[in-house]
Amino acid sequence: MTNIPELYGSMVFNDSVMRAKLPKEVYKSLKKTIFTGKQLDISIADTVANAMKEWAIEKGATHYTHWFQPLTPVAAEKHDAFIEPIPGDQVVMELSGKSLVQGEPDASSFPSGGLRATCAARGYTAWDPSSYAFVKDQTLYIPTAFCSYTGESLDYKTPLLRSMEAINEQALRILRIFGDTTTRRVTTTVGAEQEYFLVNREYFNRRDDLLYTGRTLFGASAPKGQDLEDHYLGPIKDKVSAYMHDLDLELWKFGISAKSKHNEAAPSQHELAPIYATTNMAVDQNLLTMDIMKRVAEHHGLACLLHEKPYRGISGSGKHNNWSISTDGGKNLFSPGKSPIENTQFLLLLAAVCKAVDEYQDLFRLSIATAGNDHRLGADEAPPAIVSMFLGEELNDVIEALVSKTEYVKESGGKMNLGIHSIPVFEKDTTDRNRTSPFAFTGNKFEFRMLGASQNIAMPNVILNTTVAKELKEFADRIESAEDRTYMIAHLIRKTFRNHGHIIFNGDGYSKEWEAEAARRGLMNLRTSVDAFDVFDAPKNIALFTEFSVFSGTEIEARKEILYETYLKTVRIEAMTMIDMAQKQILPGVETYVFSLAKTLRAKLEFMPELPCRMERDLIARISRLQDEAYDALNELIILVGEANRAPNVFASALLFANSVCPAMAVLREKVDAMESLTAKEHWPLPTYGEMTHRQ
Ligand code: ADP
Ligand code: MG
Repeated sequence: MTNIPELYGSMVFNDSVMRAKLPKEVYKSLKKTIFTGKQLDISIADTVANAMKEWAIEKGATHYTHWFQPLTPVAAEKHDAFIEPIPGDQVVMELSGKSLVQGEPDASSFPSGGLRATCAARGYTAWDPSSYAFVKDQTLYIPTAFCSYTGESLDYKTPLLRSMEAINEQALRILRIFGDTTTRRVTTTVGAEQEYFLVNREYFNRRDDLLYTGRTLFGASAPKGQDLEDHYLGPIKDKVSAYMHDLDLELWKFGISAKSKHNEAAPSQHELAPIYATTNMAVDQNLLTMDIMKRVAEHHGLACLLHEKPYRGISGSGKHNNWSISTDGGKNLFSPGKSPIENTQFLLLLAAVCKAVDEYQDLFRLSIATAGNDHRLGADEAPPAIVSMFLGEELNDVIEALVSKTEYVKESGGKMNLGIHSIPVFEKDTTDRNRTSPFAFTGNKFEFRMLGASQNIAMPNVILNTTVAKELKEFADRIESAEDRTYMIAHLIRKTFRNHGHIIFNGDGYSKEWEAEAARRGLMNLRTSVDAFDVFDAPKNIALFTEFSVFSGTEIEARKEILYETYLKTVRIEAMTMIDMAQKQILPGVETYVFSLAKTLRAKLEFMPELPCRMERDLIARISRLQDEAYDALNELIILVGEANRAPNVFASALLFANSVCPAMAVLREKVDAMESLTAKEHWPLPTYGEMTHRQ
């Protein structure tokens, strides 16, 4: 049996390792940097680097890497050996303070959104001591931020750290207003529930669409999807269970506290949830989790699909970003306590979140906009593209009472009595769960549920932190300068809920009525990613980001361009893959079936000319018609991709990919899927939906 407590975090240069390996003064100084955000005392870098290297070598490392998060779907790493030559043709193992603190990768091959012209090729990585280093694949991984020569951030981490500073500063002001003199730092915390699919590796390797795009571009539905609702929380198959077990062990080694695992709604879909961590760490850990999920799958003859919509017709995969704020003393600021109505500080914070979500609906939507997520949002399984907020009955009643200045009477959840003697009667929660809200308050945290399964979770958290910081600042400014602070606080809470209450919706977010109701309320409905990208540089958003130094104007413009560019490249790869598969596999495959039908028909007629042979005749006719239609759709797609490619800039090109290429892909798919339903299995060149989702 593996000793889990011993295994847990064994590959991480964490607090207890630092305490053991570093001289006391150095440890104290480094810890100050980690927990208070104070700038690193550069004079300790050599000592820390040396200790890290010694520890890493004990763990089998020969190399180190600055691990960073360029604006691509995966983290980047370049491994350098510790070896340094010394006289006598020999080497020693070394890691200098300078190599720990700073690196210089070539920035020219990463997305820079036009910044490249000004920054040339040079880029810098800078050690982020607030996320632990770790050893993986004989390499010491050092988490770093990544920026251009001219200082513009080119990654996900830098704005995230900046946004954490912003919310720390503003939340501390609020705590001081309420008499807290001891808290020194406020951090946001995140627990990201990760959904994924597992598919047999053999099928995966035979599907170019899965290989190149992460999702199936063709595929007729299997006779059984998720109709019987027998997969969600159902028994876990042995093969999957073995995978999950290995995955847990692997994650635990890296100090990632994988806690829950279960089957999800769609066949062959599963979920993993870790215990929450400081946002910065949670972001890094989620990236690492996604990477490890894929690798462990390979060892089990499986492939792990993190795409938002690997299969049409069954649920896609998302990620629930559970978010809260807590003090360095470990107090969760979104714990309402026994009586929320009396917890003024909680109500003020809640009001700030409500106002943030309402005023920056567009940015919340933007933060989860990707080509992949477009297939999922609003598809009866995921929240719609409209951002709204769920508070639950009790808080709703509290707020209604506050706004209407009536008395609030707490209703208890009541007792749950199942009428079975052996099961004790227990207290019910005051509110039922809501599954369909994009942004739900769930007891003592907010659950932002619009995220796509494959995305880096940094940006949604940048938006959460920054927008809430902005509202807290506005509140703190007003309260600090008020003559009667108590009155001002009550006034702000009431006024905020009155003015922004329309963002609160406790009903069914998947329903059609909600779309109409949301429109009446004037809420935004940015249907596609391309609609959402456009809001990035709206004047109010530029004002927000620059006020808190999260993004400069230049960074916003660059990132906006990168979003469009990434989108169009994603769709282009999908279109090219479709074209390739249709041309080289599907149409020729179907042709062999038609040929065999025709051959059979001829043979039968030779043998017995009076036979009607209705089946052969009918199938040949129907499939041939579909072949022609598919062929036309294919050619149309080729033309439209060409047009989109020739558009004068990325914005125009992305629009063409969204508005003309995507619909053309849908037409081709429809024809191909119809052919699949008519074609004999042995002639169909691809593994089917049934095989992929039911035969792991
Ligand atoms: P669900 O009911 O949505 O499936 P889970 O229990 O699977 O919920 O996941 C809840 C997630 O929320 C876990 O990752 C958990 O660690 C996280 N969480 C709990 N408390 C907090 C908090 N204060 N801040 C951030 N995340 C939290
Ligand atoms: Mg959840």
